[in-house]
Amino acid sequence: MNYKLQWLLVDLNSFFASCEQQDNPALRGKPIAVVPMFAENTSCLAASVQAKKFGVKTGTKVFEARKLCPDIQFVCSGHRKYVEYHNRIVEAVHKVCPVEKVLSIDEMVCRLIGREQEYENALAIAQRVKKIILDEVGECLTSSVGLGPNICIAKIASDMQKPNGLVVIPKELILEKIGDLDVQAISGVGYNMKYRLNQKSFFKIKDLLAISEYEMQRVWGSIVGLRLAKELRGEDFARAQNKTAAFSHEHVLPPDLRTKEAAYKIIQKLLFKGCSRLRDTRRKARGVGISIRYMNGERFEKTIQFQDNDDAFYMLKQIDRVYARIGNEKPIKVGIVLFNLTEPGAEQFSFFDNQKNNKINQVLDLINDKHGANSIVSAGHLDVVGEAKARISFSHVPSLKEDYE
Ligand SMILES: [Mg+2]
Repeated sequence: MNYKLQWLLVDLNSFFASCEQQDNPALRGKPIAVVPMFAENTSCLAASVQAKKFGVKTGTKVFEARKLCPDIQFVCSGHRKYVEYHNRIVEAVHKVCPVEKVLSIDEMVCRLIGREQEYENALAIAQRVKKIILDEVGECLTSSVGLGPNICIAKIASDMQKPNGLVVIPKELILEKIGDLDVQAISGVGYNMKYRLNQKSFFKIKDLLAISEYEMQRVWGSIVGLRLAKELRGEDFARAQNKTAAFSHEHVLPPDLRTKEAAYKIIQKLLFKGCSRLRDTRRKARGVGISIRYMNGERFEKTIQFQDNDDAFYMLKQIDRVYARIGNEKPIKVGIVLFNLTEPGAEQFSFFDNQKNNKINQVLDLINDKHGANSIVSAGHLDVVGEAKARISFSHVPSLKEDYE
C-alpha cells in the first residue's frame, strides 16, 4: 500500500485505573474505579476496562456505579503516582519514536518522518510503541494507538478501538473510515457544539465533509471551523508546532480569602509557581497578566510586558503598581499568565537580569527541589501556602515538583 501516515497518537486505556491495577496485582482483571475521595456522592475519575463493561465510566457517581456493578472496588486517586507513570511512559515511547508533544496525562503524539511514514513501517512503529509500554512500564498499561495525516485524525483513530486498539486512517481513506461517525467523535466537539451542529442538520462527519471550508468557518463562527475543515480533509499544519505560548495558573478563592489582600497573596503564590516552572524549563516570559473575577460578576484584567524574565520578585513589583489602583470588590477567582515565552533551554543574557534575585531564585528552586514544594516560600504568601495546590488537568501535566493534594 502506498499510503502515508504522518502522526502517531498514543492514548492509554483507563489510565488512572490501569496504574492502580499495575501497582496492586490484587486489583488486576477486576472492575475498579478511581475516586477523588470515599463518598457515595462523588464521581468516578476513571473506570477499569472491566468496570466499563458494566457501564461505569468517568463521571459516574459512586452509588450508581455500585448499582451497575455490585462487585466494583473503589480506589482513592494518587495523582503523584499517575505523573510518575506518565513520565515513564513518555520515556518508553521516546525510545521507539521521539515524542513530539504531550497532549495530556494519558495522551502523546509522535511525528513520523521519512520512511517511517510508509504504511507498513508506521504500523510496525505503532505495534512497537504499544509493546514497549507493556514491557517497560507495566503489563496493565494497554493503549490505543491512532495513525493519521494529522493529530485530529490520529485522535479520532485512537478513539475507534478501545481497549488495546490500533487504527490506521490514511488521508485517502478519511471519508470511508470515519464519514459515518457522529460529529462528536471529533475532539473538541462537546455536547453544546453537537447540539448546534444537529440543529443545522449536521449529524455525521461526512455531513461536514460535504460542505466547503468557508461554510465550516461560518458554522463554527470562527477560524476554528476553517482549521477543522482542513484537518478533516487530512491537511496538517500549524497545530503541529510544539510551542507553549503561555503558562497559566488560576485559583478559586475559598470564602475566607475573598479580600483584596488575600487575593494578592494567592496571586503572589501563583506567580512564584509560574516562575519556578519557567526556570525549570529554562524559559523566560516577556509578559505577565493578572486576572481577577469578582463576586458581582465583574472582571479585572491587566497585562504587563517586559524583557525576557523569570524572576517573580521583579514581576511582583510590576504587579504591585497595578494592584494598588484596583478597587475593594470581593474577589472570587484569581489567575496569572506568563506569556510570550522563549524557547525552552534558551540561555539569554539580559542587561535587566537582577543578579541578587537570580541567586535567591536559584536557592529557592534548590531547596524546594530537595525538600519538596513549599519548603521555602516568600514570606508574603506564607499563610496561604496550603492554597492553590497542583491538580492534574488533562491538558497540563504538572511536574513532580509541584505539590499535590
Ligand atoms: Mg485515555
